[in-house]
Amino acid sequence: MKKRLFYIITAAVLLLTGCSEKKSTIKIAYLPITHSLSVLETVEQSIKSPELNIELVRYGSWPELLDALNSNRVDGASVLIELAMKSKQEGIGITAVALGHRDGNVIISSNEIESAADLRGKTVAIPHRQSSHNILLNEILSSAGLSIADVKVTELAPTEMPSALAAKQIDGYCVAEPFGAMAVSLGVGKVLASSEDLWENSLCCGLVLTDKFINDRPADAKTFVTAYKAAGNSLTKDLAKSVAKKYLAQSDEVLDISLQWISYNDLDITEEAYNNLLEKVRRYGLSDNPPSYRDFVKNDF
Ligand code: ZN
Repeated sequence: MKKRLFYIITAAVLLLTGCSEKKSTIKIAYLPITHSLSVLETVEQSIKSPELNIELVRYGSWPELLDALNSNRVDGASVLIELAMKSKQEGIGITAVALGHRDGNVIISSNEIESAADLRGKTVAIPHRQSSHNILLNEILSSAGLSIADVKVTELAPTEMPSALAAKQIDGYCVAEPFGAMAVSLGVGKVLASSEDLWENSLCCGLVLTDKFINDRPADAKTFVTAYKAAGNSLTKDLAKSVAKKYLAQSDEVLDISLQWISYNDLDITEEAYNNLLEKVRRYGLSDNPPSYRDFVKNDF
């Protein structure tokens, strides 16, 4: 009799906890770029999952997105890792738990520029000083024996870069995709170098969670990160394109060009790759005191 009662109580508890787990929403911020497709595919797959309920929060710029992340208005975000590192350095409680993507960046130049050496004296746009795009620009200049002092660097909104290049206001740019692919598609620019050429195992975007979310809801954080990495591994070119078409409103041609340059498999942040980033962040003057792997990265969900 006692045994029977035990089974009834256990079943009731399982039923109750099972129901409550399903409903808690995880708010994730993103920008409509191909670099965020792992998050978007996680949401697509979670629609069928009883354990995950993700609410996407779309932003139009990195500063707006970062503001929401830093003030706990969202539980996490797909964000430029250098911007998140800067916030961490300033005392914000956030943790990087996965990469956003692998490779996926190009240096775009006007059609007249033939090599990196031709960039001397030219105007080049990046989205933000705290970005892998800034690092990649430094790398291509270094490959030609130049430095950042040899070019005019300007910060522009990503959406403005293709038209600024077409209008000859700038001579090149490096930014999150698909804005590089747009210049190629329009015929106003070409790929001068890719992130693969300039920086092996480059980092760019990361999936960053608030420490509040990780501490308050560890089970949800683990379920989400596990689902996120699985979604990244499942993103073939065809699947990436169908998700991108649903969320990004870009032409087939722009997406076909852009998705050649990026992949989403194996999104762990390794200590080696992160330490390599730290070295570049210091060398190119993005920060003197970036957070260490141990302080900022959690790779053991
Ligand atoms: Zn990125």
